[in-house]
Amino acid sequence: MNIEWYDPEKFIPTPPRSRLYNLPLIGYGTAYVESLRSYILRLAEAHNIWVLDLIRSEIQPSKLIKMIPQKLGGINQITSEYVNILEKATMNPHLHLSSLLPWANIISSHRLMRSTRAWCPVCFETWKQDEQPTYEPLLWQLEPVSTCLKHGIPLEFKCPSCGSSSNAQSQAQSRARNGHCWKCGAWLGKSPVNQLHTVDLKLVELHQNLEQFVLISPSHISSENTIINMIKNLSTFLTKGNKTELARRIGISVGRFSSISGGSALPHLQDLLDMCQFFHISMQELFFTPCNEWATKEQYNSKTLSEIAATTKEPGKPHSFNKDNARHYLESILRDKSNFPFLTEIARQLGVQADTLRKNFPELTTILMQRRSYRIRKAKKPKGKTRKNWPRIRAELTLMLNSTEITESVRDIGKRLDFSSPALKGKYPEIYEEITKRYASYREKERQRVFDEKVSEIRTAVIELRSLGLKPTLKCVQEKIGHQLCIDLIKVWREAIQTGTD
Ligand SMILES: [Zn+2]
Ligand SMILES: [Zn+2]
Repeated sequence: MNIEWYDPEKFIPTPPRSRLYNLPLIGYGTAYVESLRSYILRLAEAHNIWVLDLIRSEIQPSKLIKMIPQKLGGINQITSEYVNILEKATMNPHLHLSSLLPWANIISSHRLMRSTRAWCPVCFETWKQDEQPTYEPLLWQLEPVSTCLKHGIPLEFKCPSCGSSSNAQSQAQSRARNGHCWKCGAWLGKSPVNQLHTVDLKLVELHQNLEQFVLISPSHISSENTIINMIKNLSTFLTKGNKTELARRIGISVGRFSSISGGSALPHLQDLLDMCQFFHISMQELFFTPCNEWATKEQYNSKTLSEIAATTKEPGKPHSFNKDNARHYLESILRDKSNFPFLTEIARQLGVQADTLRKNFPELTTILMQRRSYRIRKAKKPKGKTRKNWPRIRAELTLMLNSTEITESVRDIGKRLDFSSPALKGKYPEIYEEITKRYASYREKERQRVFDEKVSEIRTAVIELRSLGLKPTLKCVQEKIGHQLCIDLIKVWREAIQTGTD
């Protein structure tokens, strides 16, 4: 009989089991990594329970949790607690990457995360069709993110079915699911419509930097490149140590800039984006390239173009081609929005053939030529006014009226699509009327919704105070809700205390 099988020496112990399912983090290692909130929602779904039940039973059992913490995933205590508990319970060691915790002590938590939910309906729909799990990337939670670069459309904030934005009330959240409205449960995905949106180049750059921001591991940033050092070096290099001048030029508030450089405040994410934009660098370069490299670019910026051309073209050697200098020269021309020389003219100044430039810098020369032809088209229009592309504006507006609720005024839509409200009224009065009417009804609905929410808040407060054995006086109710009540709401409070005593 073979008893080797029972040999305790050879016994392999069961590997440790996690208390909750060890769900992998979607998009781990990419700019589209899943947000902590999305992970918790999927975890609840995997266990076949509602999210608030999961939070109450596994994460915060001691507290009476009524909603998912608003800024979950940002740089704050609650996120850190959730990550610690969930990393242990799921044995998934990467969950801190579903939050911005790695950026703690580097950037400020202020104006970092948006308080409402935002999503790309086409991303949702595409995942569904590809039978991939529906999730919400951390990227969408960043306040400056307004667009989905994959689909070139603005993120959405309101449920197309019930009009609710999902920062919703406690009751509404208990059944929250990714890809669905938290209030009415409607699916938020939408098939892509004909690509009418063109995304502005600046917006693309901004969003590429935001993607890099999610992707960067702050722990890899060298101590040489901390923000404080960066500011110190930059001001030494560019403004002879004058930090006020530097702040003014970059466009960051002087007061905050000096607190940042003194170490008493942390920069906002927007400050980093402003610096990238000002120096024409990526977020990656900002943190991982010594600043004297991009500050050199900035020096080029301040030189006149002819000065650069003069240093680029080496006298006596007409055919030598200094690629770096030529690139700087092209970049500086692209930065100057008022000047659009011919490519042949630039080539002549650099002492090379236009073809050499095309071959070496295909992207830069294409942008240059596109801009030039755009400017020529513009120049042919009647002077003083640029002609509007009314058919396109009409198409966009019709699409908007057909597919979504009107949540912006004509004026705001005009700012986005570049027309004035009186011009639209003159051109397409029926569209103007329709938008105005629909916007007014949206405003009214929204006002009513907010009012209803307040009413239920007051009623709940009265009931809760009573259940604690307290008298629901106006003062107590106001304190509990966190603000003063207007006359209409005081009536509601009166009714609420009367109904209870019947
Ligand atoms: Zn998308
Ligand atoms: Zn809804």
